[in-house]
Amino acid sequence: MKKEAHTGERALRERLVATARAMAAARLNTGTAGNASVRTADGMLITPSGLAPDACTADDIVAVDRDGTAHGRLAPSSEWRLHRDVYAARPEAGAIVHAHAPFATALACQRLEIPPFHYMIARFGGATVHCARYATFGTQALSDHVAAALAARNACLIANHGMVVFGYDPEHALALAIEFESLCEQYWRTLQLGAPVLLSEAEMAEVVERFRWYGRPQPGAKS
Ligand code: 13P
Ligand code: ZN
Repeated sequence: MKKEAHTGERALRERLVATARAMAAARLNTGTAGNASVRTADGMLITPSGLAPDACTADDIVAVDRDGTAHGRLAPSSEWRLHRDVYAARPEAGAIVHAHAPFATALACQRLEIPPFHYMIARFGGATVHCARYATFGTQALSDHVAAALAARNACLIANHGMVVFGYDPEHALALAIEFESLCEQYWRTLQLGAPVLLSEAEMAEVVERFRWYGRPQPGAKS
């Protein structure tokens, strides 16, 4: 039983390292920017602070208990409070990624809320994606602002900083982060042409509803 739990944690550590490396490969992060975590029974596993994904191994991943106690040979990501607080507030969050992705960050530096310029905005839980207020990285204030911006959403921008996205596991969070960055690029390009035509509240409500079952087999549907 104990061995199994240990094997399970090892696998999660490896998936987290793979996620951090994939973020770099997808150019969501460069250098030591960004971080990733996954929920565990006791709290979370999180990438260490200040270590580039290429240099990070499964043994460098830090376990952080719900009360903030860290277990590891390196310090946990400076954003561990933000990750802890998202897990506490959002039971559906199984993994979180934070990135300084170029297009998301460009919008975040303008402190823009992303409006319903494209139906895919609804994939992140509503008709808009909010931008969290600015606070110094790694602070409780930043975590509080992100929690507010994530209300009923699974992505937000962070003013003058970047973005946060969560999913049900590391691969899902990564895939959503790539989609979110692509959407930020599309919005950035759209803005070059002028103000976009926005979808209505009713049109977005319909898409939000459709995303509840999108990609899942439908009960009663013939295959
Ligand atoms: P860490 O290396 O401490 O995770 O910090 C990177 C970062 O993006 C802080 O916001
Ligand atoms: Zn950051």
